[in-house]
Amino acid sequence: MERITISDTTLRDGEQSPGCSMNVPEKLRMAHHLDRLGVDVIEAGFPVASEGDFAAVQSIAAVVRRPIIAGLARACSKDIERAWQALQGAARPRIHVFLATSDIHLKYKLRISRQQCLEQAIEAIRLAKSLCDDVEFSPEDATRTDPEFLCQVVEAVVAAGATTVNIPDTVGYTTPVEFGELICLIRENVRGIEDVTISAHCHDDLGLAVANSLAAIAAGARQVECTINGIGERAGNASLEEIVMAMRVRPDRLAYETEIVSEELFPASQMLSEITGVAVQPNKAIIGRNAFAHEAGIHQDGMLKNPLTYEIMTPQSVGVPDSKLVLGKHSGRHALGLRCEQLGHQFDRHQLDEVYRHFVVLADQIKHVEDVHLLELISAIQKDRPAAADDRAQVKSIPLDVPAFAAARPDSGHGHSKLLRSMSVSSGAGLASFPLNSMPEHHGDQEDYLWGV
Ligand SMILES: [Zn+2]
Repeated sequence: MERITISDTTLRDGEQSPGCSMNVPEKLRMAHHLDRLGVDVIEAGFPVASEGDFAAVQSIAAVVRRPIIAGLARACSKDIERAWQALQGAARPRIHVFLATSDIHLKYKLRISRQQCLEQAIEAIRLAKSLCDDVEFSPEDATRTDPEFLCQVVEAVVAAGATTVNIPDTVGYTTPVEFGELICLIRENVRGIEDVTISAHCHDDLGLAVANSLAAIAAGARQVECTINGIGERAGNASLEEIVMAMRVRPDRLAYETEIVSEELFPASQMLSEITGVAVQPNKAIIGRNAFAHEAGIHQDGMLKNPLTYEIMTPQSVGVPDSKLVLGKHSGRHALGLRCEQLGHQFDRHQLDEVYRHFVVLADQIKHVEDVHLLELISAIQKDRPAAADDRAQVKSIPLDVPAFAAARPDSGHGHSKLLRSMSVSSGAGLASFPLNSMPEHHGDQEDYLWGV
């Protein structure tokens, strides 16, 4: 299997996302975790940008010794020298120089000609190379650069000593096929390209950052730049955890390996959210709160019989403690019965039907049924059983003592309880009462299997 270099830019590009600023101690904490996670490169900051960025790069370089530590610099001597200064103590320093190459950036942002751009890139790489063996060059906005000029610049920086050439889709504009073709074009037309590492750096403006990164790898890129939780400018960067797990889960299609310790993915994600205060969207692949949560009855039933029915990877493989079977209105009898058992209530089929009918009504109202709700429900049914059995049509409202919710607690359980231990937190805890009206009789077995696909 081909080895892919994982270059993490959480502390540089990631930190540029709104609300994700980190101070030096926070960056240092995150860098230690990235080290444990097994990333090959940590882009620790942009030293010329601020004193804080300089200090962060410097202190990370001093104590995080295994990965390469990279500092970003524009293609000018002031930036490059400052980056090199910050990297002085690094065991494996890298200077990462960037210069825009698209006409739109040259004309409106830099106000220089293509020829000036070419010369500036060469000069910058020569200077960086005179200081540091490991030099990366990025032609910013590469995907909107004239491909012929892009190849010309890449060839020139390779000749000047760059050891990694990073092709950034700075504005998240490219598509997988197009990006793969661009990487192929560079490989076919740039002299000396076989001696350097081609890297991809994708942004997620069209939600394609991970797909584009994987397309670049398929076309010959051997480094990807990515971030924890996919944070980064605007819509973010390619998400590290998604790229890594795509390769891990589908080696038949993506026969590449990384040094990532996948069990550290979720802890790294959690640490970043905790530091930045920016939560991960619940449905985010791999590390989102719902990535391993199952609510639909047919899914829960399948999960309880064999997790392979609905999980392509185990939660443990990415450091998530357990799958979650969320008890909501889409849940089935199987999951409900097991949960009741774990809470100390064993029911025969007929009794469980009754609990289930009430459960569905409750779940309709409070969305997520927690253990405390379930215990109250069971005790209410037990008290109410004669009436409920005799008079199904009557709607009853049983007042619940809210403090009683707090007294009930889930037990540790056994067997399937691992799957069920983490029940979803719901907004329903404040509900003072719920009606115990009976459900229509047609609520039969097949109702457990309504939700699927
Ligand atoms: Zn970027």
